Amino acid sequence: MQIFMQPGATQGQVQSIINHLKIIGAGSVSVSRENGAEVIHTNDQEWATFQSIRLMQGIRRITKGTKPLEDANVMEVIRLDPPSDYKKRLPVSDEVKKTVLCSRQEIEAILTGKDLRFIIILGPCSIYDPIGGLEYAKKLAPLARKYRDRLLIVMRSYFEKPRTTVGWEGLIQDPNLDESLDMQLGLQKAREFLLRVLKVGLPTATEFTDPITPQYIADLVCWGAIGARSAEAPAYRRMASGLSMPVGFKNGTGGSIQLAVDGVVRAAAPSVFLGVDQEEGRASVVRTTGNASCHIVLRGSSRGPNYDEPSVKAAIQLLERAGAIPRLLIDCSHDNSGKDYTRQPLVFRDVLRQRTEGNMRIVGVMLESNLHEGKQTINGGPATLKYGVSITDACISLEETELLLREADKSLG
Ligand code: PEP
Ligand code: MN
Repeated sequence: MQIFMQPGATQGQVQSIINHLKIIGAGSVSVSRENGAEVIHTNDQEWATFQSIRLMQGIRRITKGTKPLEDANVMEVIRLDPPSDYKKRLPVSDEVKKTVLCSRQEIEAILTGKDLRFIIILGPCSIYDPIGGLEYAKKLAPLARKYRDRLLIVMRSYFEKPRTTVGWEGLIQDPNLDESLDMQLGLQKAREFLLRVLKVGLPTATEFTDPITPQYIADLVCWGAIGARSAEAPAYRRMASGLSMPVGFKNGTGGSIQLAVDGVVRAAAPSVFLGVDQEEGRASVVRTTGNASCHIVLRGSSRGPNYDEPSVKAAIQLLERAGAIPRLLIDCSHDNSGKDYTRQPLVFRDVLRQRTEGNMRIVGVMLESNLHEGKQTINGGPATLKYGVSITDACISLEETELLLREADKSLG
C-alpha cells in the first residue's frame, strides 16, 4: 500500500500515520519523497488497514499496489469558492458597470458599421505583475480620452496564456510565478486587476481559454478573444456563444481563416455545454442563445503574415459567403510581425494606410505593448524580473505606442 501525502502535509501528520500503522501491526513501513511530497510505503494490503487510515489528516490518496481506476494522474482537487463569493468580495460599482456596458455597445456599433471610429486593442501580451500593468493603464487612460473621437482604445488584460508547448500559463494559473499554481488567488488577482483598469476608465480585453473562468471575471470584460490555438475547438465556440461581450476569433496558427469564420458562425448559434453556476459554482448545464457580436482577427500564421490587401480581401469574401459580419480586426503582433516586435509599427502603419485609402472593412487593430520594449525569460524566478518588460511575447514600448496612436488619430482625421 502507498499513502501519498498532500504537498503541504506536516511531519506530524506523516508521523501519526506511521505510528498508527505500527500500532495495528502493518509490517514494514518506509517513507520516500515524490514530487515534493511524502509517500509512505507498507506491504500491508488489508482493506481494514485502508479503512482505518483513509480519513487521517494530510493524505492525498492511497493506492493498493495497482493503479487506481480513476484520478491516477490527479494530484489534488481543490474546491473553489463559487463565482458569487468572488463577486461579493470584489463587486462591480455603478460606474464600472456603465463603462463595461457602454464599451461593449461601442465595439458592437463599430463592428456593425454604425460607429466609424477605429478600435485599437493594446497592452501587454500578459499581465504578470498587476502593479506594472496598472501603471500602464494609468498612462494609457489619458491617451484613450484624448483620441476618443477617432479611436476606441481597449486595454489588453490577458491572464490566460495558451502555450504552444509548456511555459508559464498566465496570472490565473500561476499568480505567484513560481509554479505554486494557486488558481484561487489567480482568479482573485484577475478580478482585482480588471476592476482597477475599468476604474481608470479603460475598456478591457482578455482571452478565454477555459469555460469556467468567464463565470468569475467576464462581467468585467468588454472584448473577448478566442485564441489561434482554440478557435477551431467546439468547446470554445460553444463558450463564446454564451459570452456577453463581442468576441474575436483568431485565424489558426497554421493559417486557416476559414476556421475562424466557422467559429464565428458556430458561436452565433444557440449551444448547450457544461459549466458552473454563479451562486454555488456547481457543475451545471449551460444553455446559450448565441452571440451575434463575434468577428474574426487576422494574426498571421506559420505560413506568414495575413494583413496584406489580398489576404484581407480573401478573408472578407469568406465572411460574406458565411453570412457573418464582413468586418475584421488585424493583430499587428504574433505571426503578422513574424514574432519580431520591432515590426509591429510597420504592420500598424500598413493597416492604417489600407483603412485610410478606403477599406472600411478593417475596423481595428491589436498591438502588444508594455511599459518597456522587448521581453525577458522567467527562468531566474520572479525576483529577477525587470519591471514593465513582457515575460511572454515581446512588446513595443509605451513611448512608441504613443507615437502610433498620435499617427492613427492624425491619419484617420
Ligand atoms: C495573444 O494574444 O497573446 C495570443 C497568444 O494570441 P494568438 O492566439 O493569436 O497566438
Ligand atoms: Mn501574445
